[in-house]
Amino acid sequence: MMEISRLYKSELKDIFSERNEPSFRAKQLFEWLHGKRVSDFSQMTNLPASTRSWLASEYTITRAECIRRQRSSDGTEKYLLSFADGNCVETVAMLYEHGLSVCVSTQVGCRMGCRFCASTQNGLVRSLTAGEMLAEVYAASDLYGMPVDSVVLMGIGEPLDNFDEVMRFYDILTDADGYGMKNRSVTLSTCGIIPEIMRLASLKKQLTLSISLHAAFPEKRSSIMPVNLRYPLEDLIPACRRYVEITGRRISFEYTVIHGFNDGEDDAEKLAELVRGFQSHVNVIPVNEAGRGDFRATRKQAESFAEKLSARGVNATVRRTLGNDISAACGQLRRDTVN
Ligand code: SAH
Repeated sequence: MMEISRLYKSELKDIFSERNEPSFRAKQLFEWLHGKRVSDFSQMTNLPASTRSWLASEYTITRAECIRRQRSSDGTEKYLLSFADGNCVETVAMLYEHGLSVCVSTQVGCRMGCRFCASTQNGLVRSLTAGEMLAEVYAASDLYGMPVDSVVLMGIGEPLDNFDEVMRFYDILTDADGYGMKNRSVTLSTCGIIPEIMRLASLKKQLTLSISLHAAFPEKRSSIMPVNLRYPLEDLIPACRRYVEITGRRISFEYTVIHGFNDGEDDAEKLAELVRGFQSHVNVIPVNEAGRGDFRATRKQAESFAEKLSARGVNATVRRTLGNDISAACGQLRRDTVN
């Protein structure tokens, strides 16, 4: 059985033409899958019964089943969603003034090995398909009871380690015949896989790219983010500059403060130097105690680091942290449930 929910409209057209059926059915099917989001072919009432029947015998519609659900005092909800093979990921729904934002996982586990991150502690199990990532958005929308306004690819996994399916996810999610999410309402966060950043640049997508820096000195970054050994800061920053040139889009940076490790005056100075000229925004986040090792920071300490950056002319803010009481960050629910 093949997963129909990960297919482009053009691929659905091919399926119908192989069957000598009219190609307008591709659009109808796509609308059922991603616009009205039905879970069964039998509900697709404008398709002939014979069509529905061969579809059902060859294809599956991917759904995510919610097996655990937590609600934070600030309204943030976190879902542990399970797929057909029993693997599960976390999806978080956060309510902001501008609407509902959903944090989507792109892989079951992760192989990037960042020391502070809970998602990577047991390595990568597998990547998610575009259909599964879409199912996360649809499930969050249904569970929260609101349409989703924006998506951040900041859940479990490294999106650029699952490039093709993540692009499919983006294209399908933003298709006007489907969910119709605004192109610019999707943020892709990466730990910095340079060749894939350049590949993304060449596609000129309108999404927002966010780079997880977390340290401005190369050795320091390598000690918490092994990806830096392969794709070092001194190459990453120029790659980011090229990305901006090619796409005309800004980049934002994430900086997780680990008190006593990366929040000194020298760190602020070096970081300011790196992001100078980017017209960019640095999101400063206090580290969430989730990974191996002794990583801690209070909100105050993060704010104080952001002030050090602001004093150097860097546009930096500490993001409102949502869902702290349900540890809505970084793969902790899956880790605590699966292992
Ligand atoms: N792999 C991608 C996206 C997923 S992680 C990336 O690295 O960007 C989303 C963000 O959460 C990243 O900036 C990541 O570094 C950060 N993060 C992971 N663990 C964290 C923790 N314990 N505390 C604070 N931020 C964390």
